[in-house]
Amino acid sequence: MLRAVEALQQRIFANQKIEVVWNSVLKEIVGKDKVKAIKILNLQTNQEDIIECEGVFVFVGFVPNTDFVKNVVSLDKNGYINVDDKMATTAKGIFACGDCRQTYLRQIVTACGDGALAAFSAGQYVADLKGTVYRQ
Ligand SMILES: Cc1cc2nc3c(=O)[nH]c(=O)nc-3n(C[C@H](O)[C@H](O)[C@H](O)COP(=O)(O)OP(=O)(O)OC[C@H]3O[C@@H](n4cnc5c(N)ncnc54)[C@H](O)[C@@H]3O)c2cc1C
Repeated sequence: MLRAVEALQQRIFANQKIEVVWNSVLKEIVGKDKVKAIKILNLQTNQEDIIECEGVFVFVGFVPNTDFVKNVVSLDKNGYINVDDKMATTAKGIFACGDCRQTYLRQIVTACGDGALAAFSAGQYVADLKGTVYRQ
């Protein structure tokens, strides 16, 4: 089963140059000075196979780089920073935005929107401290 969005899955299955190898993990990249093949292991049958290729693109998922704030702000179980709708974290005066925060979609456009919100909220926070914040 793939986690990619349906539209991308359909494009993969329709592309005759792509062969999807199910239930398997990469065991070894074979080659000395350059890639010659990969060795894969089928986790259901325990069978190893060699696929000849000239390059490898490794994609292993996401680990948010939030370790340095783990004792400062609240993180979810995957390490993403919890924020409210103003991008405020659980620590006063600290705002988070983009891919590092807990969110439903991680794309450039959402990261930019988050950034605008976080910057505005941070400005409001400082103005609030100075007693100059404008309230509607
Ligand atoms: C393979 C791939 C393909 C993608 N394709 C698309 C696409 O087609 N369309 C789309 O909209 N989105 C795409 N995305 C998602 C998009 O790249 C992200 O949503 C977006 O870049 C998030 O922006 P960001 O500023 O939150 O994080 P990033 O772009 O990851 O920027 C974070 C920056 O912070 C720096 N940093 C990290 N830790 C520290 C630290 N401790 N101190 C200082 N600096 C630090 C990093 O080096 C980096 O420069 C793709 C992502 C990947 C991985």
